Amino acid sequence: MLSAFDMTAIPNLAEIRERYCALREAVAEAESKAGRPAGSVAIELAVKYQSPERIAAALEAGAHLFGHNIIQQLAASEGALAEMQRTDSTSRHIPLPAHRTHVIGHVQSNKAAKALAFASCIETLDSVELAERLNRLQGERRAANGNFGPFDVFLQINSSGAPSQFGVSPAEARELAARVATMEHLNLAGLMTIGAHTDDTRSIARSFEVVRELREELVAAGFQSVVELSMGMTGDMDIAIAEGSTIVRVGTAVFGPRPRH
Ligand SMILES: *Cc1c(COP(=O)(O)O)cnc(C)c1O
Repeated sequence: MLSAFDMTAIPNLAEIRERYCALREAVAEAESKAGRPAGSVAIELAVKYQSPERIAAALEAGAHLFGHNIIQQLAASEGALAEMQRTDSTSRHIPLPAHRTHVIGHVQSNKAAKALAFASCIETLDSVELAERLNRLQGERRAANGNFGPFDVFLQINSSGAPSQFGVSPAEARELAARVATMEHLNLAGLMTIGAHTDDTRSIARSFEVVRELREELVAAGFQSVVELSMGMTGDMDIAIAEGSTIVRVGTAVFGPRPRH
């Protein structure tokens, strides 16, 4: 299904919609192959360097979760989407369908407040320092607005040990999880990883399996809020789904190769 698309071409807006529908089918097929219930894997579109028009095309095709790497782009794109409208059959202007955004890139501490303001989850928590800062800032936001709950965070796990990757090792994750669990304004909702960067299917599967086992270990240790496993991208989502992923982060399959920057 996904292989029916030319991954080197840049799709137009109509093709983005078609590709999103094909992605849904591919995820459903992978769920079924893995013996997992239909709908157990959420699709998060990775939208770095995509224009608001292209993101809106995916929204109209049914996408409702987006992942941003760059906080500045997250803020700009959320602002643009909030102002965009579509026209219904009676020519009334209605806002775009609702969506949520997660942060999937490294968060510099001076961008933490903006990340909290525009996203609903940060998937890349990788240090006590960042956790403390987010906890303090979310505490301030909650003091100002009683409707806010604790902010969802995932720990980013460096599951392959590659030095080029952000994230904590599984051993460090146990300690970090214990610290985050004491922070009143953060909710430790899951784990995120980028699979091993190799063509060897077994190494890729193993890098995902490590993270699934870590979640099971954390849950058994009493951290029951650790539910989500954000794993799998265009090239390895089938493997990730077989290994228990609950969220795949997909860019290229829908938007084509990333725009140059
Ligand atoms: C870009 C990106 C993705 C999506 O990768 P594709 O190969 O384009 O599907 C997923 N996760 C992260 C963290 C990314 O930066």
